[in-house]
Amino acid sequence: MDEFGEYYGRSYRLRFGSWNEAVSAAGLEPREPIDSDFIEEPESCPLCGKSNSELDFHHWRYGDNKQGCYLCRDCHDSIHEGDALPSENNNWLIEAVENLVRDHFERHGDLEKYEILSRYNVTSEKLVEYGIQKMKSENKHREGKADDE
Ligand SMILES: [Zn+2]
Ligand SMILES: [Zn+2]
Repeated sequence: MDEFGEYYGRSYRLRFGSWNEAVSAAGLEPREPIDSDFIEEPESCPLCGKSNSELDFHHWRYGDNKQGCYLCRDCHDSIHEGDALPSENNNWLIEAVENLVRDHFERHGDLEKYEILSRYNVTSEKLVEYGIQKMKSENKHREGKADDE
């Protein structure tokens, strides 16, 4: 596991409790390969629905089992917001999924795991679950605050 680096290991353990959970959450469990019709560029961005711009292909996973989805440039930037960049951060995938869940919630108003998994062809069910849990607790926190004011 050394190739992931110490920071990666520590931070994942903090969040997931155990290394095994962390590894399986990190998208290392293979999902169904991309549907051939998903590789076709869609008419519009699945996140914001914009149809008048060129779409980028965003990868959730590189290498032999490439997996990803098309997004418009703005949404693609938003998914990589913060330090969710594969070149700079071993934790980028978890951060990118968190960004996706947040953006999806803002645009579509739901936190449906299977909707998010299939709409964006995400590699890891566990990461989406984690993102949803996090989003829900942030929402709760925010509502709590609003009540106090
Ligand atoms: Zn978009
Ligand atoms: Zn990307």
